Amino acid sequence: ELSRSARTGDPGDPSKPPCLRVLLPLPLSGTFSYAVPPELALSPGDYVTVPLGRREVIGLVWESPPDEAAVPAEKLKAVHARLDLPPLPQDHRRFIDWVAGYSLAPPGAVLRMTLSSPGALMPPKPMRRVRRADRPTPADLKLTPARRRTLSAAEDGFARSQAELARTAGVGIGVIKGLIATGALEELEIVPQLPVDAPDPNRPGPSLSVEQRAAADDLMGKVANGFSVTLLDGVTGSGKTEVYFEAVAAALAAGRQVLVLLPEIALSAQWLQRFARRFGTAPVEWHSDLKSTERRLAWRAVAEGRAKVVVGARSALFLPYSELGLIVVDEEHEAAFKQEDGVIYHARDMAVVRARLGDFPIVLASATPSLESMVNAQSGKYGEVRLPNRHGGAELPKVQLIDLRRDPPRRDPDIGVSWLSPPLLRAVEETLQSGAQALLYLNRRGYAPLTLCRACGHRFECPSCSAWLVEHRFLGRLICHHCGYTTRTPEACPACGETEALTPVGPGVERLAEEVTRRFPAARLQIMSSDSIHGPAEASELIRRIQAHELDIVIGTQLAAKGHHFPLLTLVGVIDADLGLKGGDLRAGERTYHLLHQVAGRAGRAERPGRVLIQTYDPDHPVMQALVQGDRDRFLALEAEQRQAGDWPPFGRLAALILSAPDPDMADQAARLVARSAPLLQDLRVLGPAEAPLAVLRGRHRRRFLVKARRTLPLQQVLRRWLAELQLPNAVRLTVDIDPYSF
Ligand code: ADP
Ligand code: ZN
Repeated sequence: ELSRSARTGDPGDPSKPPCLRVLLPLPLSGTFSYAVPPELALSPGDYVTVPLGRREVIGLVWESPPDEAAVPAEKLKAVHARLDLPPLPQDHRRFIDWVAGYSLAPPGAVLRMTLSSPGALMPPKPMRRVRRADRPTPADLKLTPARRRTLSAAEDGFARSQAELARTAGVGIGVIKGLIATGALEELEIVPQLPVDAPDPNRPGPSLSVEQRAAADDLMGKVANGFSVTLLDGVTGSGKTEVYFEAVAAALAAGRQVLVLLPEIALSAQWLQRFARRFGTAPVEWHSDLKSTERRLAWRAVAEGRAKVVVGARSALFLPYSELGLIVVDEEHEAAFKQEDGVIYHARDMAVVRARLGDFPIVLASATPSLESMVNAQSGKYGEVRLPNRHGGAELPKVQLIDLRRDPPRRDPDIGVSWLSPPLLRAVEETLQSGAQALLYLNRRGYAPLTLCRACGHRFECPSCSAWLVEHRFLGRLICHHCGYTTRTPEACPACGETEALTPVGPGVERLAEEVTRRFPAARLQIMSSDSIHGPAEASELIRRIQAHELDIVIGTQLAAKGHHFPLLTLVGVIDADLGLKGGDLRAGERTYHLLHQVAGRAGRAERPGRVLIQTYDPDHPVMQALVQGDRDRFLALEAEQRQAGDWPPFGRLAALILSAPDPDMADQAARLVARSAPLLQDLRVLGPAEAPLAVLRGRHRRRFLVKARRTLPLQQVLRRWLAELQLPNAVRLTVDIDPYSF
């Protein structure tokens, strides 16, 4: 291997030092040439340290061809060292090149996602710990009360840090040191490791229904049979998780690693508990909330193949698995799988590519599959497994629409403005009387989405985005939900000075909570949004409180819609179903359907039947009709028909080009330049430039092109050639978003 890879620089001349290419995890780079010192044996996939300018960086030996025009081998800097890590497998290296080619990102930027952070690659530091010595306490030991307390605290034999033992025993650190000196306590060095235990595939799962068994057998049959994509399409509560756990067990039994991608890892405490119940131990987690030590341990465990099951958010897809053999993408329709900055990619789509390159199966699970996956299942490209019934025969909730034009919320002198129509109010009341719980769903954080001065018409806008500031009354602040700008809510209007005229317009969850508290003062109520829940611990505590019936009403944003199981929840009220349908977004209908269907699925998951009331001004909208009639397939077929007619994805290909500049004129000029150089091709249409959906974001002015192409056109190649010729000013940034989601 050494001779082949190391000689690629100049195979002909043995007098020149061998050299090779190293891919560096830098946002703008491809590979670089380095000389190989004679004592190093290197192959593609090896992790190496190399000099770059004055720095030393970690890179990967890559099999890309030598650069003809490059510096002569004898002038090259040499690789410093090889890191003691298993090499990155070839399928993963091809994956990095593939993602880079598809997303038009530099391979170095993709590699960076695999390396996670330089710290992640460093071997874990041993930690110093103390514990009760494994021999009798010395006879001459003077046992002061503090020493006695310490020794009894250490009785359990656990290794703890000195500080922790001191705290537990309620003594000073000097006491600990004294006991170490006498030999009553012993010190040891522990290298922390993840995972603690391997999941056990042989533990029995629940006994599956006939329908579930058939689905599980289908998936298990695909494990160890090469590449396949299967859509696991089952109604909420049908047991999709139990079913794909069987496939996980099969992959584990075959000695392979498994990746489960979830959209909201922060809220998956219930998922983790179920996994632990099924497999006897926790999986390795990968998400943005990890501390750096956890990150380092997890990364290494994945690379060394010790992490058998990884559950993570989209970035977990890029971890350096040594023997990945199955991917499950749960809630595959979720928009959260789309990464919108840095390397722009859709984790579900890239996961399919990863499985193809690694030649193993992938399962896409959802109660409301994306239109893309449905189309692929119908055309036979993907396999399909359906679970049409809820486990245990629980009924699907009954969905009813409330036409707000006929039944508007009534203003009440004691309550003020209202957001709850009379039928919904009655339903909440009945639910509370029956001792059940209600979820009121409003996908808007804060108190009010807009604050207006009634005296002069002033509206509070973000200084660096084209967006209103959202009032968060609980915090006493106005906040921009796009850039995070925040300011104290003023007492008076900054434009006219009037103190009595500032008026909130429209509802957010805080404002809705205010109304509900006034109307149902005895009900125990809690808001569930990203402002009220910080991190997984708070999320699972809230979920516990709901399950323990410590709450009667939950007012929730999207966060509350996700796969939680609340047996006592029988009513779901949707406050503003039309919210997501505004704007010209291609997927607005599909997304609204997904969300509302998912929220609706929270109702009646146990013995008590559930009920869903949806407030809308547009009851005839296809989305509303699909929800009432429970006819998802017809709705998706209708959507598919429209997209096909317009050559929109997944039938045609689409990319968005976003230009941004510090001032509007520069943005317009750059847009004209891009437009002028657009290729003229029969199968390509360039729409724009237009203002991007957020015309100003973080102080940058944004223009957008949509590039539509027939499926047969090599879109990336065309884009690459077009954009390579552009000479844009340095202050202008151009972002390419292949398969854009929100536009
Ligand atoms: P989905 O993922 O389709 O929403 P879940 O797998 O979460 O469905 O199952 C819903 C509930 O039913 C869970 O509490 C789960 O533990 C339970 N359940 C599903 N299948 C079975 C089974 N065969 N035996 C016992 N409980 C089951
Ligand atoms: Zn802003």
